[in-house]
Amino acid sequence: MALLAVPVVVVAVGAASALAPDPAPPADEAPPGPAIGRFERELQVEAFHRGNLHTHSLESDGDVPPEDVYRWYRAHDYQFVALTDHNRRVEPSVYRHLERPGFKILAGEEVTMLGGGRQVHVNALCTQSAIRGGTFGTRAEALRYAIDRIDAQRGIALINHPNFDRSLGADDLWEGRSAALLEIMSGHPYVYSNGVDARPSHEALWAELLTRGAELHGVAVDDAHHYADDKSLEKTARPGRAWIGTFAVPGADVRADATCEAIRSGSFYASNGPRLARLEVGERTFTVWPADKTATVVFLGPGDRVLATEQSSANGATYALSGDERWVRARIERADGSKAWTQPMRVVSR
Ligand SMILES: [Zn+2]
Ligand SMILES: [Zn+2]
Repeated sequence: MALLAVPVVVVAVGAASALAPDPAPPADEAPPGPAIGRFERELQVEAFHRGNLHTHSLESDGDVPPEDVYRWYRAHDYQFVALTDHNRRVEPSVYRHLERPGFKILAGEEVTMLGGGRQVHVNALCTQSAIRGGTFGTRAEALRYAIDRIDAQRGIALINHPNFDRSLGADDLWEGRSAALLEIMSGHPYVYSNGVDARPSHEALWAELLTRGAELHGVAVDDAHHYADDKSLEKTARPGRAWIGTFAVPGADVRADATCEAIRSGSFYASNGPRLARLEVGERTFTVWPADKTATVVFLGPGDRVLATEQSSANGATYALSGDERWVRARIERADGSKAWTQPMRVVSR
């Protein structure tokens, strides 16, 4: 699985030369100096579909029936949602009557396991049938069980909340690196997205995995359990706190199959606040336009090294490639502490 293997909106630079490669220049005509890298794929994205990939209903430990969950997201400017009850796959076709143009339901299940005595949870997205959990000797075995079964039915595996139950460290996640997705931010207050005790944040775990060479795409989710209108639940797992925005064609309707493919290929950003208005990757530039012009954009590379920090403007915030970065990702930061994250854009040599 390549990073951004099949972006939805791509200027396919290099496609023609792949069919008819340029003849190699004679050795004595090779350009002098070091090889200079460029971004592997160019992107121009001006529309996004907003969705949540992790939420619960009365089918497991949520507090409202599936209908109410779907209606909540439909009414709050979301274009898709996957209900992911514990070891229970709610069949989307039963609820098709709740879909609209501009709002679609994806299949989901939270495969809920014990591995080495700890909670190990993997969301199975866009699947055909239920997987269900189990008890395993190690955390790595649990991860592999879920990921293999999800892959077998062409679903998408999302490793959830590594810090919940203090379950998964970087070495465990490395064993599960064939999964497509890793939860890097959750709206659930008890899964410790920002770290707990000496454990790193979910984003720091992701950065470590990326630095080691894993190609997991980072997602932000609600993991909502509490929809009932009860003020005493305000501090618990409410909906609307974190989401992803998939790359979309302006004016095009949302489709479940295209959304699944965008998620699989990492064609999305993740957020618990900032929205993106536009995203552009050229041969050697990477530009992000946050909807909030006061946002700051931090460009990061391997080792979680800060490559540049740019203030947003009408022209967005741009990073110019030096060429030896391996990959570059962007984190959008707002004054209220909320953030958004792009996937890493891979750098290849010319
Ligand atoms: Zn969970
Ligand atoms: Zn959950």
